[in-house]
Amino acid sequence: MGIIADNLHSIVTSLKNSITKLIVVTKTHDIESIMEVYSAGYKVFGENKVQELCDKYERMPKDIEWHMIGHLQRNKVKYITNFVSLIHTVDSIELLKEINKHAGKHNRIQNCLLQMYIAQEETKFGLTYDELTAILNDDSFATLKNIKIVGLMGMASNTSDKQQIMAEFKGLKQLFDKIKIQYFHDQDDFKELSMGMSGDYLLAMEAGSTMIRVGSAIFGNRNYQL
Ligand SMILES: *Cc1c(COP(=O)(O)O)cnc(C)c1O
Repeated sequence: MGIIADNLHSIVTSLKNSITKLIVVTKTHDIESIMEVYSAGYKVFGENKVQELCDKYERMPKDIEWHMIGHLQRNKVKYITNFVSLIHTVDSIELLKEINKHAGKHNRIQNCLLQMYIAQEETKFGLTYDELTAILNDDSFATLKNIKIVGLMGMASNTSDKQQIMAEFKGLKQLFDKIKIQYFHDQDDFKELSMGMSGDYLLAMEAGSTMIRVGSAIFGNRNYQL
């Protein structure tokens, strides 16, 4: 086995007997490297840019489940709603309406996560609690028949302070439980909590993550110059 398949295997092994699923983050990596993961039997991939996502979708086998994990602009929604399995990064009612419109054109129901702001950094996207409830209480929300909210997503602070990261993940899990009771108690498919990356996925799993998004722990460090 090569190093990529080795890394994949050890992470998949650590997920055995847990509720957590792995999204292999393929951003910046070439198709040859990604095919090493595919050939090892793993087919759930995440990209953070629309153009790269569409390019890889077109060039790679069609049984791959693609996840959009990066910030999504409304004018780019139309390029991904025919194939993307889950959009992790919904952060406004306007974006939801746009996703609903384009998913409808393809007769699809687009699964989405609402992205929450949980970090102590200015640079991360996501909703505050008040913004989240404003979306869920919005009159138009219930009329969006071609979207389905299946959970929440969040990114912890980029810090070595494990206690802080754990507190952020646990806070998001508490919020998830509360929102589930208040808004989705009759919907079994509101069950996903997307949190955890290469540096913090073990903490995220401990806090109740159902989806970890892992790139560099599988492929090695990204080279953004490429
Ligand atoms: C790049 C990225 C990841 C994966 O990061 P790694 O540290 O390489 O595991 C996870 N989530 C999002 C939103 C990303 O952009």
